[in-house]
Amino acid sequence: MKSGPPGSVAAPHVCYNTPLRMPRKTRPRARVQRKLPKAHIRIVARAKLPTRFGPFEIVGIEGRNDKEGAVALLHGPVRGQTPLVRVHSQCLTGDVLASERCDCRAQLELSLRRIAASPSGILLYLPQEGRGIGLMNKLRAYQLQDRGRDTVQANEELGFAADSRDYAFSAAALKLLGVRRVRLLSNNPDKVQQLENAGIRVVERVPCRPRTSLLSRAYMETKRTKMGHLLERL
Ligand SMILES: [Zn+2]
Repeated sequence: MKSGPPGSVAAPHVCYNTPLRMPRKTRPRARVQRKLPKAHIRIVARAKLPTRFGPFEIVGIEGRNDKEGAVALLHGPVRGQTPLVRVHSQCLTGDVLASERCDCRAQLELSLRRIAASPSGILLYLPQEGRGIGLMNKLRAYQLQDRGRDTVQANEELGFAADSRDYAFSAAALKLLGVRRVRLLSNNPDKVQQLENAGIRVVERVPCRPRTSLLSRAYMETKRTKMGHLLERL
């Protein structure tokens, strides 16, 4: 994996507050339109954030509870624009500890590089560790994977959906920033659909395919074959 010095992409503090338990398989996600009332989401702080990818403005966004929080890294003006957007779910093991079990850090770094090079861009970083099941449950799933399960089988054995992430809050955060139309850096058609259902127009899906390590190939193959991610044969 191509990466810089370890620890150089730091996760914000809010991302360590991920609860251990998330709701079990409760909903067919993304099938109903969900909108968050504006009063339930607010910007708590804005500050400059120089990074090794370029200068950003960091914006703290708070919702109704611990699960609803995000930081947005803005590059250039975004209000009323059609920015290049990456909606990135926290991965402590990948983003911070440089794990090669997954491609999260590689995707995060590629996204930051692409956004920093575009005139208008946003990285939205969400505390949805382990595709929404929380850090400790993700580690339990890793343990099962070490015994031969793939990522989907492991999640299901623990009683979770293959992917428990919800993007209604992301859509609300984008609207709060004055954004209704995006070019989305993603391989995940469910993410596109959920954002569209929540009122964000995805005018273009931009593939997010960084170079990845051999170790993460099995994980990505499962994402491709079992979760519908748009990755050509690996
Ligand atoms: Zn990861």
